[in-house]
Amino acid sequence: MTSASQGPSPVEPPSPQRAGPPLIGIDLGTTHSAIACWQGGEPRLIPNALGHTLTPSVVSVDEAGHVLVGQAAQDRRISHPQQTAEVFKRAMGSAKRFRLGAREFGPEELSSLVLGSLKRDAEAALGQAIHEAVISVPAYFNDTQRKATKVAAELAGLRVLRLINEPTAAALAFGLHRRNDETSFLVFDLGGGTFDVSIVELFDGVVEVKASTGDNYLGGEDFTQAVANALMQQLGLTPQRLEADGQLRNRLHGLAEHVKRALSTEKNVRGRFAWDGQERDYALDEATLETLCADLIARLRSPVERAVRDSRLRPDALSHVVMVGGASRMPLVRKIVTRMFGRFPDVSIDPDHAIALGAATQAALIAQDEALSEVLMTDVCPYSLGVEVSEQISATQSVHGLFSPVIERNTVVPASRTGTYHTVADGQRVLALNVYQGEHRFVRDNVHLGSLTVPVPPLKRGEVTVEVRFTYDVSGLLEIDATVVNTGETHSLALLGNASSLSEEEVAQRKDNLARLKIHPRDDMPNKVVVTRLERLYAEHSGPLREAVGRVLTEFMAALATQDPEHIARDRKRVSQWLEQLDVSPLGP
Ligand code: AMP
Repeated sequence: MTSASQGPSPVEPPSPQRAGPPLIGIDLGTTHSAIACWQGGEPRLIPNALGHTLTPSVVSVDEAGHVLVGQAAQDRRISHPQQTAEVFKRAMGSAKRFRLGAREFGPEELSSLVLGSLKRDAEAALGQAIHEAVISVPAYFNDTQRKATKVAAELAGLRVLRLINEPTAAALAFGLHRRNDETSFLVFDLGGGTFDVSIVELFDGVVEVKASTGDNYLGGEDFTQAVANALMQQLGLTPQRLEADGQLRNRLHGLAEHVKRALSTEKNVRGRFAWDGQERDYALDEATLETLCADLIARLRSPVERAVRDSRLRPDALSHVVMVGGASRMPLVRKIVTRMFGRFPDVSIDPDHAIALGAATQAALIAQDEALSEVLMTDVCPYSLGVEVSEQISATQSVHGLFSPVIERNTVVPASRTGTYHTVADGQRVLALNVYQGEHRFVRDNVHLGSLTVPVPPLKRGEVTVEVRFTYDVSGLLEIDATVVNTGETHSLALLGNASSLSEEEVAQRKDNLARLKIHPRDDMPNKVVVTRLERLYAEHSGPLREAVGRVLTEFMAALATQDPEHIARDRKRVSQWLEQLDVSPLGP
C-alpha cells in the first residue's frame, strides 16, 4: 500500500528569465492531494519532502503537539487513530468537527493544513514563494463546499486564482485544449470519495463543460468498505467488535484496501490475518469482488446517462472517454465503461495525476502562457439555483414551497440571471427570499443555501415587484441582489446558517490559531516517516517481529538524539533497508 509515484518530468527551479509568479495547480483530493506547476510549456508534478508526487490527505497530531500531514500522518492512522483525521473532504462545508488529541478542527482547517504542506513542498522545489493557485473541486460541490475550499486556501495563505471543476481539469490534462478540431470528451472521474461525470466540448477554440453530474457519496472508499465487510465475515469478526476496537477496524480497512488494489492486477488474492492471538485465512477473487460491488457499479450508470442526456449528444458522438481518479484503475469499473460506450476509454495519463496537471494547465491558461494556444474556458453551473415561491392555483387556493429556478442547471458560467417576483398578500411588508439549489419541484427536496429578507412597501398583492439577480462566478460562488422595483431599493444576500462562510475577522482568528500550531519541520519528514512506520508495525504485530521492531525503534531514536545529520542519515538508510526486506504484507510499508 503505497501512495508514492513519480511524475513524468521533475520540476526545476525557475530560470532567471521567467517573470511572474509560479503557475500552480492543486488537486485537493479525498484520499490524496497533488500539486503541479506549469513549466517549460507543460504541467509538471512537484514532489513532496519524501520525493512522492502524491501526498495523502491525512492529518495527525503527535505527542509533542506537532501537526503531521501526508505519509507520516497516514501511517499513524493505525497506531494513533484518535489523533488522526482523514477523508475530511467529504465534510467540507459542514459543521463537523474532528478531534485530534486535545484539539478540534473543522474540515476546512484540516484541508488548509494539507494545502499548507503542498505549498511548502512547492516553495522548496521552486525556490520561490507561492501565494496563489488554481484548486480543483468536485463538479458537484455546492456553494457552501466551494466556499469552504476557498476558506481552506485562505487559511493556508493561498489566494484562489480559480476553483476548477475536477473533470474540467482532467480534460485539460488529456490535452483537450490542444485539439484543433471540434471535439467532446466524457470525463469519468471516480476518486476516493466522489464520482463526477462531465462532458467537456471544444468548439471554435472555446472549451465548454456541456454537462456535469455525479454522486457526492460514491467513490473508491465505498468499494474498500464493501471488501472490508466481506473480509469481516470471512474472518468471523462482527461490527460490534470493530466498533469497540478502532485499531482492529483500521487494520481491517487497510487489509481491504490492499486486497481491492491487488485485485486490479491479479485474479485472486489470499492471505492470513492475525489479531489478538487469533489467525484466519482470507481469500477473494475477481468474480466475488464484482458481486460484492454490484450495487456500487450499478450506481455508476445513472450519472453517466444523465450527463449524456443533458449534453444532448449521442454517446457515439463523443470523441473521447477519459478515466481519472484512483478508483478508475479497477478493471470492473473500466469494464462497465467499455460496455456503456462500446469502446475502450483513454487511460493514458496516470489517473492520480491528471487533475493536478490540468489545474496547473488552467493556471497557465489564466496567465495566458505563450506556450498555450488561445483557448477560452467556460464552465457550467452543475445544478439549478433559485428561490422558494408560492403559486396561486385558484381564486382561493395556493401551493406553497415551490422551487423557482433563476439559474438553470448546466448554464454556462459566469452567469447572471434575473427572476421577477411579486407579493402574494395585501399589505405584505416583507418578501422572504429563500434560496435553494437542486432540481426538485418542491424546495423541501432541494438544498437550502440561505435566506434574505427584503422589506417592501405595503401595497395590494401583486403590486410590488422584486427583481432577483443571481450572479454565479467561475469559482462557483453565488451572489444575490434583490431590487424592489417600486422603490429602487436593493438588498444583497448574506448567507445564513452557513458554517463555512466566515467573516474576515473569523478567518483572521482561525489563521492565527493555525499559525500557532507547530508544523512538523519539513526537513525532518523522512525521519518522522521511519519512526511512524516502525510505530505502526509495532502496533500491528506481536511476538518476535514486534520485539525486533521495538529494538530497531530504540536504536533509531538513539541516532536521532545525537542530532548529527550524517549519523542520522546513515542510520535512516540502514533502518529503511531493514524495513524493506521485512515481509509484512499485506499491511507492510
Ligand atoms: P483519489 O485520491 O480521490 O483519486 O482516489 C483514490 C481512490 O482510488 C482510493 O479509493 C483508492 O483505493 C483507489 N485506488 C487507487 N489505486 C487503486 C488500484 N490500483 N485499484 C483500485 N483502486 C485504487
